Amino acid sequence: MRLKGYHAETIMKKPFIVGNWKMNLTLKQGVEFARLLKNGLKGKREVLCGICPSFVFLSEICKILEGCNICVAAQNVHSETNGAYTGEVSALMIKEVGCTHVLIGHSERRHIFHETDSFINAKIKTALSVTLKPIFCIGETLEEREAGRTKDVIQSQLKGGLRDIHADQLEELVIAYEPVWAIGTGKTALPGQANEVHSFIRNIVADEYGKDFAANLYIQYGGSVKPENAKELMAQPEIDGLLVGGASITFESFLKIIEAVSKD
Ligand code: PEP
Repeated sequence: MRLKGYHAETIMKKPFIVGNWKMNLTLKQGVEFARLLKNGLKGKREVLCGICPSFVFLSEICKILEGCNICVAAQNVHSETNGAYTGEVSALMIKEVGCTHVLIGHSERRHIFHETDSFINAKIKTALSVTLKPIFCIGETLEEREAGRTKDVIQSQLKGGLRDIHADQLEELVIAYEPVWAIGTGKTALPGQANEVHSFIRNIVADEYGKDFAANLYIQYGGSVKPENAKELMAQPEIDGLLVGGASITFESFLKIIEAVSKD
């Protein structure tokens, strides 16, 4: 366990490593992965871990992981609680099958499916209303970074996504900083670059919700995390966890990432 964030002398956080499978794997492969993960993490208490399978695998995988401390997260949720929204999945449905977390605002949802900050804000509110914990993703594009707009973009995504939500509702919030130019591209943010943005995020959260809240907040980094760079990223004082895409879809590489961050 490492000391992290504000009041670094008092805050102890276990690294929180989450694998986003996206639209990959078959049900058979997902089930096999979940079984291997359950066995592989037995007795490993120094890391928190989670996976985000496809919607249609959630029920099966939640059953396999029931009772062990591996979280299962959905990759998306709709903002409405129920109704005529063909093809959508509600927060309560996700909660009912056994998930504890949900990804909200992933860059693929923002850029491919044109999700806006206000839609993302509505989704976060709906997830919280059923005590589903949001992993709220934010991040700038390459164009925005090159134009020197990283901080503006991060600030407006943060403020837009968390609008009208009070600190007491947000206890279980996780933020994932995922620079869009690093997602699935093989280009990882330099650890120092990522740390700087994490620190900026924590400062905004501290201004809005107070220093204690900000100190306890988990901020994950995501963007081409691999077994080779996981340890160095996690060694940054403001990085509390990792959101892993490509390297999480084979059990071996996901386990290597977990092992890399659990050894000090
Ligand atoms: C992601 O999809 O959240 C992600 C970080 O992907 P990758 O690790 O493949 O860049």
